[in-house]
This record gives sequence, structure tokens and C-alpha cells, in this order.
Amino acid sequence: VECRMTATTPAIHELIRANLDRAPMFTGEIEGRGPRYCPSIEDKVVRFADRESHLVFLEPEGLATHSVYPNGISTSLPLDVQQEMIRRLPGCEHAEILQPGYAVEYDMVPAWQIDATGETKSIPGLFLAGQINGTTGYEEAGGQGLMAGLNAARRVMEEEPIRLGRDEAYIGVMMDDLVTKDPREPYRMFTSRAEHRLRLRADNASERLGERALELGLLDDAHAQHFQEATARRNQIEEAFDSVRVQGTLLRDLAGRPDIPVAELRGHLERHGSGEICSVALGRAVVAQRYAGYLPRADAEARRQAELENKPIPEWLNPQQIPGLRSEAVEVLQQFQPRTFGQASRLAGVNPTDLSLVALAVRRGPSDPSVTEGAPT
Ligand SMILES: Cc1cc2nc3c(=O)[nH]c(=O)nc-3n(C[C@H](O)[C@H](O)[C@H](O)COP(=O)(O)OP(=O)(O)OC[C@H]3O[C@@H](n4cnc5c(N)ncnc54)[C@H](O)[C@@H]3O)c2cc1C
Repeated sequence: VECRMTATTPAIHELIRANLDRAPMFTGEIEGRGPRYCPSIEDKVVRFADRESHLVFLEPEGLATHSVYPNGISTSLPLDVQQEMIRRLPGCEHAEILQPGYAVEYDMVPAWQIDATGETKSIPGLFLAGQINGTTGYEEAGGQGLMAGLNAARRVMEEEPIRLGRDEAYIGVMMDDLVTKDPREPYRMFTSRAEHRLRLRADNASERLGERALELGLLDDAHAQHFQEATARRNQIEEAFDSVRVQGTLLRDLAGRPDIPVAELRGHLERHGSGEICSVALGRAVVAQRYAGYLPRADAEARRQAELENKPIPEWLNPQQIPGLRSEAVEVLQQFQPRTFGQASRLAGVNPTDLSLVALAVRRGPSDPSVTEGAPT
């Protein structure tokens, strides 16, 4: 499939500027803020005023059609301006618009109304996933769908809900962000949002989550078998790393050195009769070994955070009844109702002293009159 590229011109930018008063996203008719990372063409022209041109990707919409999606010029401008804009786009002089661009304003469920399982707090049994929770993106929607679907099924089967930790999966980071932050713009899952990036790698996704998926019954027979075979192949290499020596040096130590090519390691394994070597398993084992020096430090930090992270905040706790708690913290804790200290620690408006007071109240327990009085049932 041929995908072509063109670009806007100064004349197009002039046209857009002259018609900004007809773009609802600029006149205030639409108040919501669009995704920062895919701005409309009028947004680009205003925000990056020094740029004379913006790329437009001409993406064919199918094999048996002449229709093309011009990626990069999403817009809320009226049809006559869109037609003029397309006519002035180099290469598109004779193009016809089949479906004009448009802007819509979405509404969303606020963060404090959902749990990290996707379940709404006010309507138990109602699970939400995707854009309705304030995200944008395919993977974001898919990841939430997985959690919401899994937990909805477990709820029906009266099984414990499943939440993923921030150190376990990007889905864990996203779900936690969604229920603790009050996004001002559509949420996208960036790797930079994760504090445990050394561990959350694409190459170890199945190792991190495979066992869990197996336990939870999320893998069908073929995937379960594939996972178990891959684990066995990986274990075989790990064992060889600890038993094979090359001129006195353990293969594991050689594997950790970035200057030793993987092909050389493979050669050593083959010469020592380590059986058939799986390239994927070897690649993963080498990556893990090269990170190994850094991981203990990252793990120690993750453990320290996990202690706080998973410490539950009981539902009987009434922030209003906690002696000395600042009114801002009371308000935020009541609004978001965090279920763990980790979630509470990330709420804007809750500081470490507030957390100590909450911890003290939890230690005192529900029998303490200052805590239970007026507590929600
Ligand atoms: C033009 C455009 C380009 C995009 N490009 C990208 C991109 O390149 N990469 C990326 O990651 N993301 C992109 N996105 C964002 C991404 O498409 C969405 O964030 C994501 O698809 C949202 O998934 P969702 O399941 O939450 O909602 P949707 O996919 O909107 O699903 C909601 C579904 O509910 C149905 N529905 C609505 N009301 C009812 C009702 N009353 N009864 C029954 N069904 C109903 C709708 O028909 C729809 O099928 C783009 C979005 C747009 C608009």
C-alpha cells in the first residue's frame, strides 16, 4: 500500500488564520481541550506560528478504493475552508472531500468515580474502559478493556478483584494514574509516566505477566503451551549461563558484558553442548543479564514503595474524623477515596504528614471513637 506525503504551505496557513473566528475550537463554542499530541491544523498554525509548513500523510483507506485519509489536518473549520485548504495542498488540487473533518467534545467520568479495576464506585457492577475514563488511544482503551473485562467476570464469579501494580505493568501505571489524577486533557500512556522503567520492558512482558495470566485463566491452551515452552527454553539458557565457563569466566558474566556479541555467546553454548538454542530466549536472557547490575537497586526502591503502595486504606475510615488532618487533604481523600496508601500518596493535595495521620488513624482501628463517629457504612 503506497502512502504518500505532502505538506501545508504559507498560503494555507494564511487561509486558516483568516478563518480562525469560524473554528468552534477557537471561538469558545468548544471548550474542551483536545489531545496535546495530535493537535488540529488550526492549533498547529497558531501554536507553532514560526513554522511555514506541516507534514500531511496521505493514507489510502483500502486496497479497492481511491479514498485517502489526510493524516495531520484534523480540523473544526467549516467546509468551505476545508475545501479551499485541500485544493491548495500540493498534489491534492483535484481531490474531492468525501467526509469533512469535524470536532466533537467528549465528556468523561471523573477519576474519583472509578476504581483501578474499572468498576464505578457509585454503581457497583458497572465497569468502564476507554475514552469514557478520560484516555485517548487504542492501546489505552484495550488495556482498560482487559482489566474491566477480567474484573467484571471475576465479580460475577465472586472472586477477588485484580489490580496490577505500577511496578508490574504499564496497564498498572495507567489504571493507577486514571484513578488518582484529575486529567486536564486526554490521558496518553507514555513510558515516562512509569517510575519502574528498568523492569517494565517489552522483552520481558511475558515473564512479568505470563504466570499471572496463566493463574487467572486468561491464556487459551495454545498460548499457555507456548508460554510454558518459552519458559523452559529460557530456563535451559539460564542454567547454561551458570554452568558453562570460557577460559575460567562464567558465561553469565560474559553475557553481562555489552562488548560481547550475542552470536559469540551462542557459539560458546553450542560448543558446550547446551542443546538447541532458541534465539528469542537467548536474546531475552542476555538483555536481562545486562540490566542485572542495575536491577537490585531498582528492585529495592520498588519494594520500599510497594510496602506503602499496597497498604490498604480501609473503607470505614472517615477522613473528616481524623484529628489534625488538613481540610484540603480531607476534601481530596473524600473525593477520590483511595484504597491504598500508594494511591493516596500520589493525590495532589495530600502530603507525607497527612499520610502519617491517616496511618495513625488506621492503626487505631475502627473501634476508635474519633474515627468511627460519622464514618460511612
Ligand atoms: C480521527 C481519529 C484518529 C485517531 N487516531 C488514533 C491513532 O492513530 N492512534 C491511537 O492510539 N488512537 C487514535 N485515536 C483515538 C482512539 O481511536 C480512541 O481513543 C479509542 O478508539 C477509544 O476507544 P473506546 O473503546 O474507548 O471508544 P470507541 O472506540 O469510540 O467505542 C465506543 C463504542 O460504543 C458505541 N456506542 C456509543 N453509544 C452507544 C450506545 N448507546 N449503545 C451501544 N453502543 C454505543 C460506539 O458506536 C463505539 O463503537 C483516534 C481517534 C480519532 C477520532
